[in-house]
Amino acid sequence: MNATATDSNAITGRVFNFSAGPAAMPAPVLKQLQEELLCLPGAGASLMELSHRGQVFTDILHDAEGTIRALYGISDDYAVLFLQGGAALQFSMIPANLIRGNGKTAQYLVTGSWAKKALGEAKKEGNVEVIYDAKDSNYDHVPSPSDYKVREDAAYLYHCSNETIQGVQFGEEPACPAGVPLVCDASSDLLSRPLEINKYGILYACAQKNAGPAGVTVVIIRRDLLDHAPADLAGYMTYKNHADNDSMWNTPPTFAVWALGKVARWLADDIGGLEAMQKINEQKAKRLYDVIDSHREFYLGHAKAEYRSKMNVTFNLPSDELLGKFVKEAAANELASLKGHRSIGGIRASIYNAMPREGVEALASFMTDFASKNG
Ligand SMILES: *Cc1c(COP(=O)(O)O)cnc(C)c1O
Repeated sequence: MNATATDSNAITGRVFNFSAGPAAMPAPVLKQLQEELLCLPGAGASLMELSHRGQVFTDILHDAEGTIRALYGISDDYAVLFLQGGAALQFSMIPANLIRGNGKTAQYLVTGSWAKKALGEAKKEGNVEVIYDAKDSNYDHVPSPSDYKVREDAAYLYHCSNETIQGVQFGEEPACPAGVPLVCDASSDLLSRPLEINKYGILYACAQKNAGPAGVTVVIIRRDLLDHAPADLAGYMTYKNHADNDSMWNTPPTFAVWALGKVARWLADDIGGLEAMQKINEQKAKRLYDVIDSHREFYLGHAKAEYRSKMNVTFNLPSDELLGKFVKEAAANELASLKGHRSIGGIRASIYNAMPREGVEALASFMTDFASKNG
């Protein structure tokens, strides 16, 4: 398979898609899905038409899980679950399992829109405490360990590793006492870099940024955390049900799991794993930030330099008029979906794993050219 969207095999008419999510998928994966969609070789039917209990899908699910386990070196101390409900359901499932009805307190680091939304849902489930909130600086950074203190008896410490809307990213895990489970929303950076899973209690991500199509959410959970749910919690909400039933407590999103498995395989086999992916992602991000830094009067970066996201590059232009012109001219140059989230405005270039270097190069050239003509 080949990693670019512009090679001779690619479907014609595809532009460089900087959408924040659902986002670009690797073209070779889409092509393989297309080829196998009508009839999965040897199965006599489309994967979408097969029982989730049958051997064909069971093998696909195990293969997807196995590939993710291999990429991160995940031990058997963790369950890897494929759930529905997106990241949003995890905002509720985590506190429902870990603090509902038990009087414990969960602590939150609020570094942008997604952590804030997760906090709002957690408040409905039990005691929560915000130990850091970056709102006074309009969410342009993440805290250092000396900026907050985690209680030794906290039910968990929650953070979002990459704030997709503001474009700020944790370079390393927050400081967390050994006895406190670290919980992470990695929706927009899972599979983009290596991580030490052993540092986490729960790490989860919806798939539609970096890992596949919308409809499946990967939850990596330390097995000792499966036993904390209140007995009257809804069945679907209870992690243990999913872990005990191989993510088949009810019908899983079979198509999305299939596609996610293929993305994971592309990453392992074609890219060469998470370290190789990280290197590519760092180079891509640097290319765009270098353009921003060499036109400081013109491109106004949102995040402070040390906390810049490698996935979502956010910046503004000197006026709304120029902003509109930028988006319009970029689109005419086949650079799509660059408009920032309505809550912070500006431009957001999402450059997840599947964005080829050529796409970043095309955007960087466009930006340089646009600045020289309009600056
Ligand atoms: C996209 C995103 C979400 C929301 O995901 P849904 O699947 O729509 O619930 C949550 N957190 C982060 C970091 C995201 O990027």
